[in-house]
Amino acid sequence: MNEIYRGRLAPSPTGYLHLGHARTFWFAAERARAAGGTLLLRNDDLDAVRFRLDFVDAMVEDLRWFGFVWAEPMISQSARRDRYRAALERLHAANLIFPCTRTRRDVIEAAGAPHEGGADDEPIYPPQFRPPADAPLPPLGEKISVNWRIRVPDGEAFDFHDENLGDQRAVAGRDFGDFLVWRKDDTPSYQLACAVDDAELSITEVVRGADLVKSTFRQLLLFRALGWSPPKFYHAPLMVDTKGERLAKRHDALALRTLREQGVTPQEIITRFFPEDFADGPG
Ligand code: GLU
Repeated sequence: MNEIYRGRLAPSPTGYLHLGHARTFWFAAERARAAGGTLLLRNDDLDAVRFRLDFVDAMVEDLRWFGFVWAEPMISQSARRDRYRAALERLHAANLIFPCTRTRRDVIEAAGAPHEGGADDEPIYPPQFRPPADAPLPPLGEKISVNWRIRVPDGEAFDFHDENLGDQRAVAGRDFGDFLVWRKDDTPSYQLACAVDDAELSITEVVRGADLVKSTFRQLLLFRALGWSPPKFYHAPLMVDTKGERLAKRHDALALRTLREQGVTPQEIITRFFPEDFADGPG
């Protein structure tokens, strides 16, 4: 039996959407359309510091203007905290996580070698900072005030077939280290929330930017730890500016609303900036 394709658009309301977002979402929409499936809209609003309510409204407005269609209602991560907490409790019960009181600076200093890679890259957590694997875990407590990390299985290779980039492999402990699953301000990490949502919302294919390939390995580890089978993945090529730099939110000139105010239409954007051959059908 063919499973019904279910994809998602997962913008973060921390700024205005720009051309790069539209391009990634367009890949997602085209893949869903070609497969005769549906798209969900997930509002990744867990970043309490950078979150702004007006960005949520702007994001929805910009997506509609562009012509994206999704199955209502929009799903906000802030409303799904209980789900993330339940997953955290399972990881805790399985003794797969540990509390970490090191600062980011401690980690960067001890990790030594500078790291390179995509935007989701972070230094490898120094193994000497880990508590012994058999140390009894303190309880999570109702309100969490310490960072919790998952212990990655050092030396183990994680593989997946990317629908765009082909076969991908990363080795735990070498390419990614013990990563945050919950923050000391009592919010779930992006990795945990994203894995829980993609599993529980029955997403069959995740389409997102190629800067998140390393996150995919982390999320694959979470899928396994939580006993879920992972979706497929399609990492879309990132859009770069004329200097070869990634488009970031600070490129306000390329914000969708700026383009709209200038009278640029979505069709012009598609014709001018998005790959020609893709619309004929992905993959
Ligand atoms: N909100 C995340 C981002 O914009 C979503 C990434 C994903 O699609 O998993 O980077």
